[in-house]
Amino acid sequence: MEHYDVVVVGAGTAGAYTAYNLAKLGFKTALLESKYGEMVGVKTCGDALGKHHVDRMSRYLTPNPNIFVNDIKGVELFSPDLRTKYVIKGEGYMLDRFNWGKWLVREAVNAGAAFYEGTTATAPIIEGGSVVGVRANDARQGTAKEFRAKVVVDASGSVGVVRTKLPDTWPISERLHPEDVSHAYREVFYIDGSVEAPNYIKIYLDQQISPGGYWWAFPYSEGFLNVGLGVWGILKINPRANYVKYLEPRYKIRNKVHMGGGFIPTRRPLKSLVGNGILAVGDAAAAVNPLHGGGIGQALLTGELASKAIKRAFEIGKFDVETLWQYNLDYMREWGYRQAQLDVVRLMLQTLDNDDLNFGLSRKLLTEEDVLDISSHGVTLSVVDKMRLALQFVGRPGLLMKLYNAMQYAKRIGDLYLQYPQSPSGLSRWHEQVMEAYREFREKIGLGPMPA
Ligand SMILES: Cc1cc2nc3c(=O)[nH]c(=O)nc-3n(C[C@H](O)[C@H](O)[C@H](O)COP(=O)(O)OP(=O)(O)OC[C@H]3O[C@@H](n4cnc5c(N)ncnc54)[C@H](O)[C@@H]3O)c2cc1C
Repeated sequence: MEHYDVVVVGAGTAGAYTAYNLAKLGFKTALLESKYGEMVGVKTCGDALGKHHVDRMSRYLTPNPNIFVNDIKGVELFSPDLRTKYVIKGEGYMLDRFNWGKWLVREAVNAGAAFYEGTTATAPIIEGGSVVGVRANDARQGTAKEFRAKVVVDASGSVGVVRTKLPDTWPISERLHPEDVSHAYREVFYIDGSVEAPNYIKIYLDQQISPGGYWWAFPYSEGFLNVGLGVWGILKINPRANYVKYLEPRYKIRNKVHMGGGFIPTRRPLKSLVGNGILAVGDAAAAVNPLHGGGIGQALLTGELASKAIKRAFEIGKFDVETLWQYNLDYMREWGYRQAQLDVVRLMLQTLDNDDLNFGLSRKLLTEEDVLDISSHGVTLSVVDKMRLALQFVGRPGLLMKLYNAMQYAKRIGDLYLQYPQSPSGLSRWHEQVMEAYREFREKIGLGPMPA
């Protein structure tokens, strides 16, 4: 049996960064990871990251400059008929993703974390109503082990392997519905020739190729690309099949470097990111931008905020849900309310067909500036007002009404997340208000009842 202050399960971006922060603060930290050897840090991803996330991380950890392989100036967003292109400015990077992953694990180890590679957590250990550790298997040696700690951090990615094995009565155990996830597939390859504007990542809306999602081409350079697509989980479509059918034929591929898929939680924040003796970070906490599925930045953010909450818990000497609750409050205020806003917009977009998208983008119902504003500041009253005004002037009242409702409910639901309860005792009442607002919104856009 191993004893630590904190056990972090999963050494992806969220887990490695959390372990780095905790080890640097002087906590005896174990970092458990199923993968081993060269596979550590390998992640199927689009590999694009906004500069503001890197700037924030730099307050705690100096980024390794070799990891940024392409300076991105913004996003080109295409309508399904390719007749309309939005150019949305915003700085970012394409990452050398596998080296990013390995670098973060190295930093955690250099800061003092004990790294257990090839070690798969199988279940939480619960005693006296609190998580006090995890059971794990060492696949290479065929041995079972217990890791005991004051706090466990679930950083196991979208499976949330620890939190989902907690009793249903724990709000952190909330399962992901197929409506709440996107299935994605992507390949990384060199092409003959070059793409236009290699400093812009390209996003294509097309409900035939990527129903309920989008397809992308993210350049590492003019001749080296990350191309993939995401589809709405509830539709049960195999994204790889659509990739092979629609995307592969578009490129003169010279050689493939990596292929793979995964699923991404694209939903509102979990009801709670904490329980007695446990916190969830990154994909395990469903901390992702539900509109585009980007979650590397949120993995860093949750790693930072969770570490602060854990530090505070050690100062107080208590590790119960009330003490760890501050993490919920910090997360909802920093990002969770915008995640909820974008989730509302995501649900509305998933009800549109290519015709609606072509019309909406060509008429600039939302302009490039609006999109930038929403992504930087969330849905504000001025966007809602603008939609209300547009209702009077533009054709397609049904589409406009959906857009208006989405903006209105995004604002309302985001505001509810800003009023997230100060303690666990207020959670049920607050959550019922959120569900009521979602139910109303779904009815207005014809989406049917909340999935059970
Ligand atoms: C196809 C695709 C494209 C994407 N594109 C982008 C993009 O361009 N930009 C962006 O920002 N985000 C993107 N994302 C999302 C982003 O990759 C994730 O949000 C982010 O990597 C989450 O990091 P994480 O550390 O929470 O999870 P992960 O990176 O999934 O790490 C979880 C780790 O836990 C380990 N693990 C799992 N179970 C156990 C266990 N039982 N015991 C021990 N270890 C375990 C796993 O091996 C893994 O290493 C994409 C995702 C996919 C699938």
